[in-house]
Amino acid sequence: MLKESLTDMYPPDNSPDRFKSMYLMLATGCLITILAVSVAVINWNSRTDLRDTVVADSERIADSIYFTEVDALLINTDKNGYTISLAETARDALDVRIRDMYDPMNIVKVLIFNRARTAIYGNDNQTIQEDSDYEKYIDEVFNKGRIVYHLNKNQTIIDLVGEKREVADMAVVDVPIRHKSGQIMGVFSIYTDVSKITQKYRRQMLYSVTAQTVMLLFLSLISYIVIIRESFELKLAYQKLETMATTDPLTGVSNRRQLLERVEQHFAMLQRTGETLAMNVGLGFIMIDVDFFKQINDSYGHLAGDSILQELASEINLELRQYDVFGRYGGEEFLIVLPNTQPDEVHRTAERLITSIREHPFTWNGSQIHITLSAGVTWTDTDNETLDEVLSKVDGLMYEAKQLGRDQAVFKV
Ligand code: GH3
Ligand code: MG
Ligand code: MG
Repeated sequence: MLKESLTDMYPPDNSPDRFKSMYLMLATGCLITILAVSVAVINWNSRTDLRDTVVADSERIADSIYFTEVDALLINTDKNGYTISLAETARDALDVRIRDMYDPMNIVKVLIFNRARTAIYGNDNQTIQEDSDYEKYIDEVFNKGRIVYHLNKNQTIIDLVGEKREVADMAVVDVPIRHKSGQIMGVFSIYTDVSKITQKYRRQMLYSVTAQTVMLLFLSLISYIVIIRESFELKLAYQKLETMATTDPLTGVSNRRQLLERVEQHFAMLQRTGETLAMNVGLGFIMIDVDFFKQINDSYGHLAGDSILQELASEINLELRQYDVFGRYGGEEFLIVLPNTQPDEVHRTAERLITSIREHPFTWNGSQIHITLSAGVTWTDTDNETLDEVLSKVDGLMYEAKQLGRDQAVFKV
C-alpha cells in the first residue's frame, strides 16, 4: 500500500556523513601506501648506489695491491693448480703501504685468503667485530668466480690508536685474485666503513619523507575541507528533500504519505503486541472534514482558505498528545490516530476537537470566520480487521456525520 520510505531509499549508511569517514580511511591508506613505496624506492636506490661505489673502489684497491706488491704476494703451484702465499720478509712493507691506502677511502681492514680459504694476511687499523659469515662469502667467490658484496650494519669497531669504540655500518667486498690463466688463487676481503654514506642516505630519506608527508597532509587537509563543505551542503539538501517528501507544504503537518506510513507502523505494532496489552487498549481513528469549505473559498478567496487550513492544523495539534499521529489526509480532510487509547477516550477527544474548533474564531483580513468540523470516529484492537478496512470505515462514518447535519462526530466501533 505504501511506497518505500525515504530512509529505505537513502539508508543512514549512505548518508553524507559517511563520505567523511570513507575519505579519512582512503586518505590514510593512500598516505601510508605512497610513503611506503617512496621509502622502498629511496632505500633500494641508495643501497644500489652504495654497493656500486664500494665495489668499484675495492676492485681498484685489490688491483693495485696485486699488481704493485709482487714481492709480497707469491704465486705457488700444487697438484690442484695455483694458490697464493705471503713472503714473510715483505710483510712489514706491505702493512705500511696498505695502511696508506686506508685513510682516504675509509677502509678499516684488508684480509687476504689463499685457495684453501686460510687467511694468509690481515691488516687492521681498527678492531672490528668478527664477520661470522665470512667463510660463506669467500666460498661464494671461489664457486661463482665473481666479486661478492655484503653490508653488515651496526658493527662495533674499536679504534686501535685512540681505543674509541663506535658503531658503524661495514661494507665487505670479496674480490677474487686471479692467475693470468683465469684460475682463482685467493681472495682480497676489503672492509670499508660506510657509516658516513649510510647516514647521509638516512638523512636524505628523512628529508624526503618529511617533505612528502607535509605535502600529502596539506593536500588531504584541503580535500577534507572541500568534502566537509560539500557533505554539509548535501546533508542540508537531504534534510530538505526529506522534509519535502514527508511534510505537507501548506500546514507543516505530516503529508498523506508519512501519515499512512506511521499509522501502518502503529497498526503492525499493535498486531504484534496486542495479546500483551490490557483489555480495550488499541488505536483510535478520527477522520475530520471541514464543513462547507468550498463556501469559504468562494466568499473570502483561496488564500483565506489556505490560511484557515494552516490555523486549523495548529489548533488541532494543540489539542493532541505528543505521540498522537496527525496529518493531512486530503484537501481539507485530516486524520488523527491515537495510540494506546480506549474507545470512549477517542470519542471524547473527537467531541473536544469539534467543540474547540466551533468556538475558535479564525480571522482573515480583520473578519472573523467560524468553521465547523464533521468527524468519523472509530477504534480498533486490530484483531479482525485490516488497516484499509478501518480507514474506509472511518471515512464512511465521517460522511454519515455530514448526512446527519454536520458539526458532529459519529462514533462506531
Ligand atoms: P462539505 O465537506 O461540508 O460537504 O462541503 P465542502 O464545501 O467542504 O465540500 P468538499 O469537502 O467536497 O470540498 C472541499 C473544498 O476544499 C474543495 C476545495 O476547493 C477546497 N480545498 C481543498 N484543498 C484546499 C487547499 O489546499 N486550499 C484551499 N484554499 N482550498 C482547498
Ligand atoms: Mg468539506
Ligand atoms: Mg472534503
